[in-house]
Parts: sequence; structure tokens; C-alpha cells
Amino acid sequence: MADLLPLLLASGEELTRLYARADAVRREYCGEAVPVRAILEFSNYCANECLYCGLRAENAVPTRYRMSADDILAAVDQIAATGVAGTVVLQAGETPGYSDDEISALLRRIKAAHPALAITLSVGNRPRAVYARWREAGMDRYLLRFETSDPELYARLHPNGSLAERLQCLRDLRAVGVQTGSGFMIGLPGETLPTLARNILLCREFDLDMIGSGPYIPNPDTPLGAKPNAYADDPEMFFRAIAVLRLVNPAAHIPATTAFDAVFPGGRDLVLQRGANVFMPNATPTSLRRDYQLYPGKPNVDESAAQFADRAVARLRAIGRPVAAGPSHSLKRPPPEQE
Ligand code: SF4
Repeated sequence: MADLLPLLLASGEELTRLYARADAVRREYCGEAVPVRAILEFSNYCANECLYCGLRAENAVPTRYRMSADDILAAVDQIAATGVAGTVVLQAGETPGYSDDEISALLRRIKAAHPALAITLSVGNRPRAVYARWREAGMDRYLLRFETSDPELYARLHPNGSLAERLQCLRDLRAVGVQTGSGFMIGLPGETLPTLARNILLCREFDLDMIGSGPYIPNPDTPLGAKPNAYADDPEMFFRAIAVLRLVNPAAHIPATTAFDAVFPGGRDLVLQRGANVFMPNATPTSLRRDYQLYPGKPNVDESAAQFADRAVARLRAIGRPVAAGPSHSLKRPPPEQE
């Protein structure tokens, strides 16, 4: 861990070298083409009370919604028709208003209609048997962020579970054979630099296929709302963290998360040049976007779902990067047909 601290504090020419190294490692392991993974926020119901999250159960979200299976299918049809996104990321709160069996049925319908589209699911902690059933139903990947490697900080911010439970879920996902994604927030109140370094190392320990990390953004409508980001005085730390994450996890897919755009103009474009390799546009129907506000100032709430592909291609072209074809399999493990 001590080795990472000087990198996380790099400035001047050292910082320039750090970003150049991270970009070179990204190029060597991931190539120039950028996988596009379209996010579909299919329900904003959640029974949990994470202290930083706008969707926490106690919050008076203007409208709680749960897209019907038919509406989800129609949105996935639209995503597939763009020919740009090789993956749909189905994201919701931990208790999305769907039973585990309903989610299985949904996965089957999507896979039957779009066999070439990879499906990532992200709906929180579940027993291993449920993950196994979902894998059988067509789930290719699962995203479950641990948010912080500090067990006490985790417990303070997440009244509904422990870090140990979450890490067990990650082991279960690995055991059932789905590509596993996790990650952390950068700058949670109470985070120290050694915690940030441990977050990065924990990703390596789990040998993750995908690592999603972005800056913590205070949401004034939550109990943590008055607490600034731990690196509010040094926002460069957000980018240093991703660059170091790439050096330590060279073959992981690392998305440029939306939160980078919220804290920095063109933040996602910058982070794609400092270690990240995946773009994740929001393809949720526009009428629902305002009700899925994990934090204020979330970008692109007015962008139509139909426009997401053109805009993603244009953004990537502006930084000289093509869109990757197909579902972008794990860089660490063979694609399913070769297993
Ligand atoms: S972070 Fe996830 S689990 Fe926690 S309250 Fe928000 S939607 Fe629910």
C-alpha cells in the first residue's frame, strides 16, 4: 500500500508521467476501441437507507417507478438497434419492486430477443443461489460496488448491511461464474488516503473484470448532504485514483463514470485518457431520468434515450477513439463459448 501513496500524491511532471503511464497500460491491455455499455435504470425503488443516496427509502423521491417488463424490453430493443452498445446494464435499487423470479423471467426474455447483447445486472446483495439462477437465465455480468474497503466507514454509511456481507456476495458471484464488477466512491467523508489505496488494492485482490469508481458527490437531500468530498480541495485526486487503479488492475474494464462529468467539465473524456476504457451512456427513458437522482447535477437528464448512441460516438470521436464492436468480453477470462 505504501507504494501507492506517492502516486496518489503525484503533482507536476510526476503527475503528467502518471497519466501517460496509465494511458499506455490501458492501450496495451484494452486497445483503443471503447466498449459502450448502455445503462437502463429500470426501477428507483429501494428499501435501503445508504446515507449518501438520493434513492434511499426515506427520501421523498417525486415519483417511485418500476418499468414494466414490456417497457424494459422496448428500451432494450432501442439500445440494441443503435448497434453501438454491446451491453445493457440493468440497474435499480436493492429492492427494485421485482421479485427474484420476475428478474429471471426478464433476463430470459431479453436474452431470447437479443442473444448478442451482453446483460449486466446491478440490484444489490442476493444469496448465491439467486445469482446462480440469474446466470442460468442469461445474466452475463453483475455490478456490485463495495464503495469503501474500510469496514467501519462502510457500516456508518450503510445501515442495512456490512462490508463483510458485500464482499461475500462478490465471492459468490465469482463462484457462480459471472463476470464480476465492483468499485468504490472516491472521497467519501471519512475516507483517508490509505483507505483509497486499500480500495484500489481490494479491487486487485478480487481480480475484478470491471471496476466502476467515481467521485462522491454530496446530495443535500440525504443525511450526508452537508459533508464535502474528502478531496474537495484537491479534485485532481479523482483522476489520480483512476490512473493508479489502471496501473494496479491493468486488465480490468474501467468505465469513465457519469460522476466525472458532474464534477468536471468533460470529465469523462479526460478520464478516458487517464486509464479508463469504457463509456456508459444513460439510455433510461427521458421521462424517468429525473426520478433516478443518486446525487444532484447528474448530467444528461434531458438527453433523449434515442440520442445516446450518436452522442457517445461523437464524444469518443472527439478524443480519437472508436467504438468497440460487440459485447466486450472480460479481458481476463475467455468468452463463454470458449469456457
Ligand atoms: S445506494 Fe443503492 S442500495 Fe443504497 S439506498 Fe441507493 S439505491 Fe438503495
